[in-house]
Amino acid sequence: MQSGSVEMGTKARANVAGRGEVEFMLNVNGSPHPCKLSNVLHVPDFGYSLLSVCQMVSKGLQVSFENEKCRVTAGPTVVATASQVGDLYILDVMNESFSAHVVTLQTLHERMAHVNVQGIASMIHNNVVSGINSDNHPLICPACVFGKATRSVIPKQRSSSRAKNCLDLVHSDVCGPLEVQSIGGSRYFITFVDDHSNWVVVYTMRNKSEAFAKYKLYEKLAQTHTGRKVKVLRTDRGGEYLWTEF
Ligand SMILES: [Zn+2]
Repeated sequence: MQSGSVEMGTKARANVAGRGEVEFMLNVNGSPHPCKLSNVLHVPDFGYSLLSVCQMVSKGLQVSFENEKCRVTAGPTVVATASQVGDLYILDVMNESFSAHVVTLQTLHERMAHVNVQGIASMIHNNVVSGINSDNHPLICPACVFGKATRSVIPKQRSSSRAKNCLDLVHSDVCGPLEVQSIGGSRYFITFVDDHSNWVVVYTMRNKSEAFAKYKLYEKLAQTHTGRKVKVLRTDRGGEYLWTEF
């Protein structure tokens, strides 16, 4: 919404409440011509909707007044006519029923802040609104569908069975670089999770290349603790796990 003011003939100023587009159907020598005006100021204090001859001329149109008629032309083409009524020239437009803009259910739904379809149906049924084209019933609004969509539930039970014994399967992942360094200067950490027991071991690293050294540390610790050997190490196959030493 833009504000401001416009000067009237009396030099008084009137407030501009908004600015937008206006569409209507012109009557040019009896036939309908759709017309769209842009940059239209909404001035609540004005008793009339005024069209500026100056603006039309500056857009390249020609405006002529003759025999109680005003003609707006673009080159040889007549784009609009107006008839003199008292001291004013009134634009010739098609009658109300012809020029009424047919609003679809979807448009009304959007204008009413995406109100539910039953609400709109009852408005139409009770003649609260008119001129609505309800042919495209039932209404399915993409924005509402997306807005109400939910994520499918993450299963509480894991789908694969747990490893039978400690160190049969170990999951490992590297995280980093982190934005803030640790006190020791590390920006990465590596995790080792035993699938059977969920035992987690975490080491910090200054560099990704320390991954193998940390694995060796983990392997020694885990094998001493459990008396078993690491059988499978499962990773995301990140570069740090694919070095030949691994
Ligand atoms: Zn909607």
